[in-house]
This record gives sequence, C-alpha cells and structure tokens, in this order.
Amino acid sequence: MPELPEVETYRRFLHELVVAQTITALEVHDAHVLAVDEDTLRQAVVGRTVRDTGRLGKNCFLLLDDGRVLVLHFGMTGDVGAYRDPADRPRFTRVTLYLDSGLRVAFIDPRKFGRIRLADSIETYQQAKKLGPDALDISPEQLQQKLQRRKVAVKPLLLDQSITAGLGNWIVDEVLFQAGIHPERLAHTLQADEYQALHGAIQHVLGTAIRHEATYRHFPADFLIHARQWDDSATPGTDAHRFCPRHANTEIVKSYVGGRATYVCPVCQPAPTLA
Ligand SMILES: [Zn+2]
Repeated sequence: MPELPEVETYRRFLHELVVAQTITALEVHDAHVLAVDEDTLRQAVVGRTVRDTGRLGKNCFLLLDDGRVLVLHFGMTGDVGAYRDPADRPRFTRVTLYLDSGLRVAFIDPRKFGRIRLADSIETYQQAKKLGPDALDISPEQLQQKLQRRKVAVKPLLLDQSITAGLGNWIVDEVLFQAGIHPERLAHTLQADEYQALHGAIQHVLGTAIRHEATYRHFPADFLIHARQWDDSATPGTDAHRFCPRHANTEIVKSYVGGRATYVCPVCQPAPTLA
C-alpha cells in the first residue's frame, strides 16, 4: 500500500514533469477511480497550468493556476508513470493527463481503490477529510499537545489521521520501536522525553524511507521492518529475521493492537506495567 514515503516519492516525480505545464487533454480509461464526474473533471483541468505540487499525508496535490486542486489518492496499489508514445502507456493506466510538453502522465492502479478528486483548496480538502497536520510537519509541541491527555494506547492514536496525517501501520510500529515505546503505552503516561523521542523517530523513519524512495530492503539494518516481513508459517526460533535487529537473541513478538498486526521487541519496548 502506498504510504507517505511512496506518495512523497510520486509527488517528487510528478513535480519535475508537471509544474509550469498546461494540461491539454484528459483521457479516462476507467472511470472507477474518479470521485468526480468525468466531464466536470475535464472542464476543470483542461487548459489549466499546474502551478505547484503538494502532499498531505497520503494525498498528493496538483495545484492548478485558478486555485483549484487535483487530489490524487493511491488506495492500495496506485502509482504514477509517464510516457510519450501511446504504445508505451503503462498497464493498468486508469487516467492520462496530456501535457503541452508532449509528455503524458499516467495514474496507474491495478486494483482501482485509488481516487482522483477536485478540491477548491488544500485547506477545504483537509477540513472535509478531517486530516491533521502532515506527519513530517507536525511539531514536537503539537504532537504532545494532541496526545498527552488521551488515556488511550499510543499506537491507534498515531494511526488516527485526524491527529497527524500519513502514518500507516508498519510506519507506526517502526516509529515506536525506534523511540523505545511499547504500542500499548497509554498516551497520557508518556513523559516529556518520550514525546521528544517519538517526534524524533517519526522524522527519522519517514526521512529514511523517503531518502531510500521507499525501497525497504535498503533501509538501515537496525530497522524493525526487516524483522516484520517474515512468513507467518515459519517455525518460531528458526528464522533469523524474527530477531530484534538490536538484540540478536530476542525474538520479535507479534500481537494485535487496536485490531492491527503489531511487532514489538520486548527488550527495546518494555510493556506497560498495570496500575
Ligand atoms: Zn530489541
């Protein structure tokens, strides 16, 4: 699933191609991915120049010269591509934007859970979707302020897009591992230094993922992600990938927190003591 690091990588790719370009045509190959009427979308974008790109959480924006915004959400399997010759159109392209450079931008989505929308501005879209500040932009003070009174496990709060936008399941596990915080710690029990560590880990994990263009096998060896990609049918204790990257003899524990698969090192992330 395209998470914040993938979407930021797509945005950077698009930015190079579309900024200062005029959209000369719109071709819809499969209207499934449109959350707006096709003719309305065509009238809104054709003839417009793309002034800039943006991103909020897992949403990518093309900012048009009349102030409106084309919103791309990539669902489960969304991707972007570019081509010139119609014969080179990527497989599963659902929508194509024609640019005056002669390049064509493809919105690719095999499973068609992605969506293309129109918004009057990023702010109106953010309000309508109840999205908090982007996870890369939220300040340590904002993060602590939003969490410190909540008597709720910290993991589901970090997944809540209205608190901060863009943190998905594996990213939250990685952030909590890097910060040394157990996912079931209640947010109101976290100390100031733990909030600092949490904020630092969000920056570190997202920054690392974007730097590696979301190619997970290139992530540093001390990342939990190398331990979570095991085959669930493997025999416990036999697969080296099941062990903590920092404690070679400690097995990573899989559980469910808030209904989501969760991976924890019991040494790096001490379980909360029951009051
Ligand atoms: Zn550990």
